[in-house]
Amino acid sequence: MKRRFVSTRGRQQPVSAKTAVKQGLAIDHGLFVDPNLGQEKINLTELLPLDYQQLAQNILHLLLPDFTPTELTQAVHNAYYQNFDTTKITPLHTINDCHVLELWHGPTSAFKDIGLQLLPHLMQLALEKNEHSLVLTATSGDTGKAALEGFKNINNVGIAVFYPEGGVSDIQEKQMLTTAGENTSVAAIIGNFDDAQRHVKEIFNNDIFKETLASDLHLSSANSINIGRLAPQVVYYFSAYQQLVEQGEIAQGDLVNFTVPTGNFGDVLAGYYAKLLGLPIKKLIVAANANNVLTDFFKTGIYDRQRPFLHTVAPSMDIQVSSNLERLLYYESGLDSAYIDQLMNQLEKNGHYQISDKLLQNLQRDFACGFSSDHDIQTAIKEVYEEQGYLMDPHTAAGYHVMRDYQQHDQTPMILLATASPYKFVETTAPAILPDVDKASNSFDLIQRLADYTNAPVPDNLARLHGLPIRHKNILSPEKMQAYVKQQAEVIFNVQNQSARY
Ligand SMILES: *Cc1c(COP(=O)(O)O)cnc(C)c1O
Repeated sequence: MKRRFVSTRGRQQPVSAKTAVKQGLAIDHGLFVDPNLGQEKINLTELLPLDYQQLAQNILHLLLPDFTPTELTQAVHNAYYQNFDTTKITPLHTINDCHVLELWHGPTSAFKDIGLQLLPHLMQLALEKNEHSLVLTATSGDTGKAALEGFKNINNVGIAVFYPEGGVSDIQEKQMLTTAGENTSVAAIIGNFDDAQRHVKEIFNNDIFKETLASDLHLSSANSINIGRLAPQVVYYFSAYQQLVEQGEIAQGDLVNFTVPTGNFGDVLAGYYAKLLGLPIKKLIVAANANNVLTDFFKTGIYDRQRPFLHTVAPSMDIQVSSNLERLLYYESGLDSAYIDQLMNQLEKNGHYQISDKLLQNLQRDFACGFSSDHDIQTAIKEVYEEQGYLMDPHTAAGYHVMRDYQQHDQTPMILLATASPYKFVETTAPAILPDVDKASNSFDLIQRLADYTNAPVPDNLARLHGLPIRHKNILSPEKMQAYVKQQAEVIFNVQNQSARY
């Protein structure tokens, strides 16, 4: 077993990739990183002819070295064989002078499927015989459903998802509440997303509570801090490059840029990992929404979360603390974990930190950053549809606006990551495009009207959603979450044990 993963904060003994996947977060609350990442480069010539699944096996083998090739082949097959509506998994669509990489062809129509279809299989492989894992996830919308779909019916693993009551869209709520599977559970929490998130963290950190659970039960997380969710996202950067070479848009070895709609910094960090592995990337353009903490940070080197939290039309990017930035700082500071520990402590205590000039220069060499207001987003959706007949979701549109700004002084071939289906955020896309929309319209009517108007196909899972029965309906106050988790653990693993016995 190759014990390569250490904590960004330096106070965890090295562990194997499997332990890192199982554990999620390091014991010192840092994130798991491989200090040797990038020493071994990928051979592009060998990769270019591969299909998506083969590409994934090769890249994951480098990133998660102690899963055997057979294990990876099986996990990748299970994740991508039939759950996406195209065998390309992440197809490239060209409009005018940019290429849109559509990451939303999975079972829940958001890019989180790419990581969350694979993570459960990796987690199952990481569990020893007789071990069980209960995944706890707080969600503001997209992660919850993608995690439920990924973990549904995976043996020895159960999942409990918590979302803020009234704090997610109709479609997102219906997606979660209709999830099948004997090992899934969903509860709405009275409070906002931060309340749900804080209470989940408290459960993770409550040793006394954990003692009351069965001794072979691990609590685990499906957030993008888990390396098993991040690694699969590196693959589609290579897939995009491969498709551009295949289409004759670029020659092998040419530099490209990527623009990435960003919240928790997981998606764009995967692009940085691709670059470390040898993909010819010139710049990664980080696109935020009106919660523009990152834009200020890349400009000034000051990360300051002390500002009002804004609810925007791109809600999956409404975030003040981008957790995965910590991994980037670790690598760009030359693996200086003592320094990262110090910065993260400052963030926790004071709500802000400032990085050194040297580190800021390093970041600015690889990254550019900008943000889009709600108005910019709505305008971009409308313009791109009117000029190109192409329908974008609000997160992708936030990226589009930032990208157009950036392209004024850099003409390198550009790939824009499209992170959700436009039908998933129809309450924003429909009014931007349809001539007259009543604010009170039901989301499912809007999907139909938008489809009739644009002829863009509605993903199957969203088309079928309206008719599905509600299977979960729990509303809890945050204080009841612990008892709920304990009860769900018993219910889920009893059912699994019984079906295993017969
Ligand atoms: C989660 C999400 C993002 C942000 O991705 P990060 O990895 O958190 O930066 C962007 N768009 C959509 C639709 C998402 O669901």
